[in-house]
Amino acid sequence: MQKLVIASNNQGKLREFQRMLAPLGIEVLTQSQLGISEAEEPHCTFVENALAKARHVSRESGLPALADDSGICVDALGGVPGVISARYAGDNPKSDARNNEKLLREMQGVTDRHAHYYCVLVLVRHADDPQPLIAEGEWHGMIAHEERGDGGFGYDPMFWLPELDRMSSELDHDEKAQLSHRAKALKVLLEKLKM
Ligand code: IMP
Repeated sequence: MQKLVIASNNQGKLREFQRMLAPLGIEVLTQSQLGISEAEEPHCTFVENALAKARHVSRESGLPALADDSGICVDALGGVPGVISARYAGDNPKSDARNNEKLLREMQGVTDRHAHYYCVLVLVRHADDPQPLIAEGEWHGMIAHEERGDGGFGYDPMFWLPELDRMSSELDHDEKAQLSHRAKALKVLLEKLKM
């Protein structure tokens, strides 16, 4: 595989993927570079949404496509925001700042602050690939009481890692690329690709 299109317009994710895939010598293109519209994400599971995105981009580009569907799942909220993490506070337009404000509001007075990020990656070699490669990763932490740090994206300013006593927004790129749900899923996917 020499070329791969990342099926996402999320700048935070794209930066992370481009960094993580750079050493492999694969030319990484993005769907916006190719003028491909965003796919619908109508499903209630991460894996179905990731597959829908990967297929759409592969069909439009004629190239292998990699999609990520990810989100943050908060134990005390029964796994919410989960699949709707990107549009938790509405999608017109999607806003990380408003999502974070909403989550902090919902967590007021909640003592169990455990949460995890989840990521599923789906790689299709062509749009009708009957055997998509699928890999998952999780990253466990806690929801802080206030936002801190300016790295990462999305919920990173409030995702606290007890063992490091830092928010995920306070990690440098290389640290996040070792620890994150996306990094873990990518590692599994790359192993599968080698098989
Ligand atoms: P998706 O593009 O529909 O998969 O939405 C993913 C959403 O989950 C993002 O917009 C963020 O709100 C959240 N998310 C996923 N991964 C991360 C991460 O590494 N840091 C912070 N937020 C994340």
